[in-house]
Amino acid sequence: MLNKDKPQTYTLAKLQMYDECPQKYKLCYIDKVHVVEKIQTQKASKTGTNIHNLVNFYLKGMDVTKLVESLSQPEKLLWHNFKNSELQSLNYVDSEYSFNVRIGGYWMTGRIDALFESNGNYIILDWKTGETFSPESVKFQTTFYLVCMYEILKAKNYIKEPKQLSLYYMDLNAGSLVKIHFDEELYTNYKAQILEIINKINNNPSFYCNKTDKCKQCKYYRACPYL
Ligand code: SF4
Repeated sequence: MLNKDKPQTYTLAKLQMYDECPQKYKLCYIDKVHVVEKIQTQKASKTGTNIHNLVNFYLKGMDVTKLVESLSQPEKLLWHNFKNSELQSLNYVDSEYSFNVRIGGYWMTGRIDALFESNGNYIILDWKTGETFSPESVKFQTTFYLVCMYEILKAKNYIKEPKQLSLYYMDLNAGSLVKIHFDEELYTNYKAQILEIINKINNNPSFYCNKTDKCKQCKYYRACPYL
């Protein structure tokens, strides 16, 4: 039975933040502490937005000549790496695809960068434009996207088994592709992880902290009662 007083729609950002640190989740979503982003972070976010928009328009078949001309030099390198990637051999299905899907009685909402198809198998694509990227740093994103997109593609009868779905992270700075595969066992584990986090959010009012060596990079560092 769902508790009507608790939020029943979850985003990747919310679940990921709780997974990272329950105290951070509290500062952001419950205390609503406002933090002004550093200029460096703002610049990186602008580059990310420019490249995501450009790739999306290009994949949708629009004329991007003027957008490409307006790119900064670092952005041109990211665009070059995208254009020379092996993705060009896959079949484009959709990009900036927003979804709502029910998992274990809760609604998940999110958006993937792109979806491709190859020989009846589907591939979720996620562009990374930051200076460094490691699959370890996006473990929860991997979990969330694979479970949600599997449920959606299975419901549409596009695929029958988790192994027909993969997730590729494209590191546009390095020009490399990290391929993450999926199977029945991972599906069961990932789904359980998502539901466990939701259960903790709804039933753990103490919001303990996950004090780690990454705390100094946390944007709530100054507001954190544990430090
Ligand atoms: S500073 Fe560390 S313990 Fe505090 S909210 Fe951020 S990640 Fe959590």
